[in-house]
Amino acid sequence: MDFKAAAEALAAELIATRRDLHRHPELGFQEVRTAGIVARRLGELGLEVRTGIAQTGVVGLLQGGRDGPTLMLRFDMDALPIQERNQTDYVSQTAGVMHACGHDGHVAIGLAVARLLLQERQRLAGRVKFVFQPAEEGLGGAEAMVRAGVLADPRPDLALGLHLWNGAPLGRVVVTAGPAMSAGEIWRCTLRGRGGHGAQPHEAADPVVAAAYVVTALQSVVARNVNPEDTAVVTVGTIHAGDAFNIIPAEATLTGTIRTYDPAVRERVLARVGAIVEGVAAALEVSAELDIKLLTPSLINDSAACALVRAAAEAVVGAENVDTQRRWMASEDMAFFLQEVPGCFFFIGSANAGRGLIYPHHNPQFDFDEAALPLAAAIMAGAARRYLSG
Ligand SMILES: [Zn+2]
Ligand SMILES: [Zn+2]
Repeated sequence: MDFKAAAEALAAELIATRRDLHRHPELGFQEVRTAGIVARRLGELGLEVRTGIAQTGVVGLLQGGRDGPTLMLRFDMDALPIQERNQTDYVSQTAGVMHACGHDGHVAIGLAVARLLLQERQRLAGRVKFVFQPAEEGLGGAEAMVRAGVLADPRPDLALGLHLWNGAPLGRVVVTAGPAMSAGEIWRCTLRGRGGHGAQPHEAADPVVAAAYVVTALQSVVARNVNPEDTAVVTVGTIHAGDAFNIIPAEATLTGTIRTYDPAVRERVLARVGAIVEGVAAALEVSAELDIKLLTPSLINDSAACALVRAAAEAVVGAENVDTQRRWMASEDMAFFLQEVPGCFFFIGSANAGRGLIYPHHNPQFDFDEAALPLAAAIMAGAARRYLSG
């Protein structure tokens, strides 16, 4: 069966599903309507369906005609707390909530992949575990599903996932082995000095000046401590201190994020951030408290799984349209699954400058070219068939 042609034949249904979900976006762990549609559609296809996993997660099991390994295919379902500013006839009907990352498309793709693979069921050696995940957007949906046992009974031998991506044009696919998306850290630093009169600084210990030096000194981490062939980001996102022009406050608080691909680079960056905060604070006679919390580890793709996906992608878009080097400096909680199970998370180009579909993910005007939907379904189904070909 030619999955590309078969997926194209499902294009109208893919678009209708995606637009329906787009009109009715739901935030993380609240994907009740979405999960209901997923469960019903998987059930209609005859899959064994489990619901309520990590609240709104849904799992569908498709048994092949012969025995073999278990392949997990993961699709995320949640929207974002953003007021949509598009003027399409499928614009969000829920104030302040929008599918601004493309997860509406992912759900539609997942349901289409189930339909495609069902038609090949007898030829598949093994089983496909469709995992529809809640709360990808920083709310810990993947971790919650792992805790709820989604990686057991049956345990997947390989895991695949995808993301529509406006960082690449329609027709291009990105499959990068090794670290493909960054680890994300949130950090918070409180500098405590001694408050005082704005005209008597020698009697105070000024945390505002210390904060300014911390911000400046942190710029040296990426510039001077990270190998130029590697990469990292240290961002200060907020600074809060003081209430009045003539008072030296007692405290200043900074928050920010750290992004890295390579675990070794991450260790180095975290150590340097800690040393700089401590050293600057000591030099300026304030105390420092630094709290760094890992949101998502870096997403590391298995090279054999990438080869499998690359072959499937080449069959759909041609080898010249498969990029194997690009990475995305963003965090994805698929990384939690890939810490447990080898696999590949890949990107389907979905931007179309000619149609104005150029806004980045999480932007109130984000939208993607829906012609990416059948391409994505065909590639995912093709990779699954290759893996389960016995
Ligand atoms: Zn997102
Ligand atoms: Zn996303």
